Amino acid sequence: MSNQAANNLANENVTLVLFHNDLRVADNATLLKASEISIDGKLLLVYASSLTDILDDKDYYDAYRYEAMGQARQQFLHESLADLNTSLMQRGNRLLYLQKGDEALDVFTQLSDLIAQQRVTDICISQTADYNKNKVYDLMQAKYPEIQWHIHTTATLFDKLPLESLPKSFTQFRKKIESDYDLLHAEKDIAISPTPETLAPLPDNMLSRDEYFFESQLSSETEVNKTLKQTSNFTGGESNGLKHLDAYFCSDAPSTYKTTRNALDEWAHSTKFSAWLANGSLSVNTILNRLRRYERDIIGNDSTYWIWFELLWREYFYWYAVTHQQKLFWFKGIAQHAPSTQLIESLLAQWKNGTTQYPIVNACMNQLNATGYMSNRGRQLVASCFIHELGLDWRYGAAYFEQHLVDYDVGSNWGNWQYLAGVGADPRGCRQFNLDKQTQQYDPNGEFIREWQGNTQKSD
Ligand SMILES: Cc1cc2nc3c(=O)[nH]c(=O)nc-3n(C[C@H](O)[C@H](O)[C@H](O)COP(=O)(O)OP(=O)(O)OC[C@H]3O[C@@H](n4cnc5c(N)ncnc54)[C@H](O)[C@@H]3O)c2cc1C
Repeated sequence: MSNQAANNLANENVTLVLFHNDLRVADNATLLKASEISIDGKLLLVYASSLTDILDDKDYYDAYRYEAMGQARQQFLHESLADLNTSLMQRGNRLLYLQKGDEALDVFTQLSDLIAQQRVTDICISQTADYNKNKVYDLMQAKYPEIQWHIHTTATLFDKLPLESLPKSFTQFRKKIESDYDLLHAEKDIAISPTPETLAPLPDNMLSRDEYFFESQLSSETEVNKTLKQTSNFTGGESNGLKHLDAYFCSDAPSTYKTTRNALDEWAHSTKFSAWLANGSLSVNTILNRLRRYERDIIGNDSTYWIWFELLWREYFYWYAVTHQQKLFWFKGIAQHAPSTQLIESLLAQWKNGTTQYPIVNACMNQLNATGYMSNRGRQLVASCFIHELGLDWRYGAAYFEQHLVDYDVGSNWGNWQYLAGVGADPRGCRQFNLDKQTQQYDPNGEFIREWQGNTQKSD
């Protein structure tokens, strides 16, 4: 009798976890749920890359020249998956990785085949603000109506939008949250989902299916690029994220965050939590509990409050993406009128390659291209230049950030771009930064521009 038939006869539970931006074992309600329902059954733990390729109308990718994921972002993701795989193996299972190869079927079909072959009974996923990902989940649910879906919140402070509707501005949102919940000062720590100690095994007939195993799929792709590693301080994965969290709160940096956060460079000048938060290697609850501990044990001041304030911006843009769905990618955003900008290829190339007439912008873009990271100040300056100085259609800038940022997050990226383009959540309409003044203020001695060669002329 085949294993598959045996599974079926025993009426065994076969649970599949579809990881997305929840690449961790701690405080992961989705994985916890999967471990509970599969306790006497089997468990498939899957990361499916490029799952959304199946969508016909994933128009914004093709339209805005989104090419392959940038190297830094890809490397950070692979490190994160490798770390997750190690944690899953320590618990008796392993990560399966689906990707589109030259000859292989698209990933949606590969996943469908796996579900059908293994007679999956339950699927566990984390809630996401990603409009395209949700469309794929809808297709999958329609295809397999008999499968039970379990959806948990792992990315945000709140399980659902904590207000009746999303306020038009961040300030209104923050004030309401702080008056209704005040999570920063609550007496008890935020509840953290227990980490499963063991996981049910793979179905027997998967044990020799090396072609699905993460290690065999990615051996060549995970080769660490030494040049990149010299310039990037980010190493993906839950264990590295937790180490970074610990190092940050064991330093003095949180107590001066508000005065340093606008700097263009320097690792300790802002928290650098974003990359681990974006792919879910770190949970926002874990960070908030740690921040509260710092306030209790070391010091609570304007700076520690401001870390909370920025985490609330992240929360706001998550619910903004959930609320506005595909409007997140529209030229006119959530506004009534489209901006008077357009696509001009030569200017777009200058901006991407760091060869504009603005050294500060070039330096920031060189930093992004080399490391996958740019400070918040830098992002504001290059986006303002893109929209106001170069007069370009903001969506091409957002797509370029999506391609390259190690901390790419759908709501934070597209929401911030809309905000700066004047088609989003900014009550003031639009934000233009004076690049000369900003250079004087944030790089008065030209060190940042020198380090990132903002003055060097290159050909496009
Ligand atoms: C045009 C543009 C695009 C952006 N794209 C992204 C993106 O794709 N992913 C992303 O995580 N952030 C994005 N940001 C927000 C912000 O620039 C980064 O979160 C921040 O620079 C990351 O560094 P950090 O972790 O040291 O931030 P810190 O200053 O230490 O802030 C702490 C945390 O608060 C959150 N946060 C801070 N500022 C913002 C903000 N403006 N919006 C939303 N969350 C915020 C992040 O989770 C961050 O890790 C973007 C900002 C702009 C202007």
